[in-house]
Amino acid sequence: MQPIHIIGGGLAGCEASWQIARAGVPVILHEMRPSRGTEAHRTERLAELVCSNSFRSDDAENNAVGVIHREMRALGSLIMRCADANQVPAGGALAVDRDGFAAAVEAAILAEPLITVRREEVAGLPPESWDKTIVATGPLTSPALAESIRALTGENALAFFDAIAPIVHFDSIDMDIAWRQSRYDKAGPGGTGADYVNCPMDKAQYEAFVDALLSSEKTEFREFEGTPYFDGCLPIEVMAERGRETLRHGPMKPVGLTNPRDPTVKAYAIVQLRQDNALGTLFNVVGFQTKLKYGEQSRVFRLIPGLQHAEFARLGGLHRNTFLNSPRLLDGRLRLKGRPGLRFAGQITGCEGYVESTAIGLLAGRLAAGERLGREITPPPATTALGALLNHITGGHLESIEAGARSFQPMNVNFGLFPPIEGPTKDEAGKKLRGPDKGAARKRALSARADLDLKGWIKGMGARA
Ligand SMILES: Cc1cc2nc3c(=O)[nH]c(=O)nc-3n(C[C@H](O)[C@H](O)[C@H](O)COP(=O)(O)OP(=O)(O)OC[C@H]3O[C@@H](n4cnc5c(N)ncnc54)[C@H](O)[C@@H]3O)c2cc1C
Repeated sequence: MQPIHIIGGGLAGCEASWQIARAGVPVILHEMRPSRGTEAHRTERLAELVCSNSFRSDDAENNAVGVIHREMRALGSLIMRCADANQVPAGGALAVDRDGFAAAVEAAILAEPLITVRREEVAGLPPESWDKTIVATGPLTSPALAESIRALTGENALAFFDAIAPIVHFDSIDMDIAWRQSRYDKAGPGGTGADYVNCPMDKAQYEAFVDALLSSEKTEFREFEGTPYFDGCLPIEVMAERGRETLRHGPMKPVGLTNPRDPTVKAYAIVQLRQDNALGTLFNVVGFQTKLKYGEQSRVFRLIPGLQHAEFARLGGLHRNTFLNSPRLLDGRLRLKGRPGLRFAGQITGCEGYVESTAIGLLAGRLAAGERLGREITPPPATTALGALLNHITGGHLESIEAGARSFQPMNVNFGLFPPIEGPTKDEAGKKLRGPDKGAARKRALSARADLDLKGWIKGMGARA
């Protein structure tokens, strides 16, 4: 049987290789290290964790990351098996001994007779003769391959610089303070004239916010992150350093917006949030790309009126990244629309994080193996964590009325990506649920639905667990 080629022996590439081999299909895995390194990897190992040693929450009842852990375990994930076997104490999180973890993944890959590992860089597009290839080269894809992908997909389709703004769960925004309106009520194509959520500030609130930005702790750029800023996506704290009024004339300008609760009083500054997913459950804070430390972001952004109880689906950040504009370029099975023999997996598809990269590697592997065996697999339903993430990458993201090359941004798995559900309104004793209790019950309902639907998918597809 003709092998499937995988480029990149990171988290996604190893998981995809494993899934394909388990399905009985041969794999050739190309990994460029050690002959060529990246700015972040330090070892020769396959599946090296480049930064933290955490796979985040392992709570499958209350957290979407825990749900995706559960789903990957049910589907025989190699990465999850090795993570479980190399766990270190970390409260409710799944954290690992990074050396033991990478060694275990590498040993399993090398011991698998259907997988051949070639230590070489694939410095351009794979030849057509490879037939089926999965590109899983991650955020630090080697420049030669990145350049060829960019040439194939179009000038602006591959971002090399990742400036991300925080994303907030809509239901945590205080709509008694904020209001919906587009600047000058412009509807634009596909808009309604009320597409943005607006958070008003008076002068004192603005001054306090700028002070908090200026005095907060920032993450230091590492050597490999020497990419220059584009003026269009400066971190907000850098803008604030340029002058106290800069933000008020930039992303926080108060023009063209009227607070319906106070129409005669003009806000001194306004923070806007824009719908981020088709479901309307997530909103990004417009122009708020930042390199403030995570803890500082939650503290400082909750100073914004209307966001005082904000729950963040993702915090902002700034680092070099290579990712496709997947909603436009990939089909629902992660294949390049213009060249379906080429499939993508891992962070390069626009998911964010170890767990998500692995999850997309798992799906890419299963989908590719199914095709090779002539048994097309239907992707998991959007009500599962795997399906919700896949759906977001390949189509759930909403191109806003100001869509541009950077409209689609890397995303962690979170409950905001799941189709909404009516959670229980009363607890077991029949008492009416309110506030945080109601939110927690809704998460448990989403998790239970995901569990049921994944089991159904595994059963229906004959997917080998
Ligand atoms: C600096 C940095 C820190 C991060 N920290 C975290 C974190 O703490 N927690 C978290 O959850 N996520 C983090 N991420 C995000 C992301 O989840 C990880 O980068 C994750 O490893 C992505 O998995 P992947 O399999 O897509 O890519 P990788 O794990 O990076 O694997 C890609 C592999 O492809 C190889 N490769 C690249 N180009 C070629 C080529 N042309 N030919 C052959 N091989 C090639 C690379 O050597 C690498 O082994 C971080 C990302 C970066 C850039």
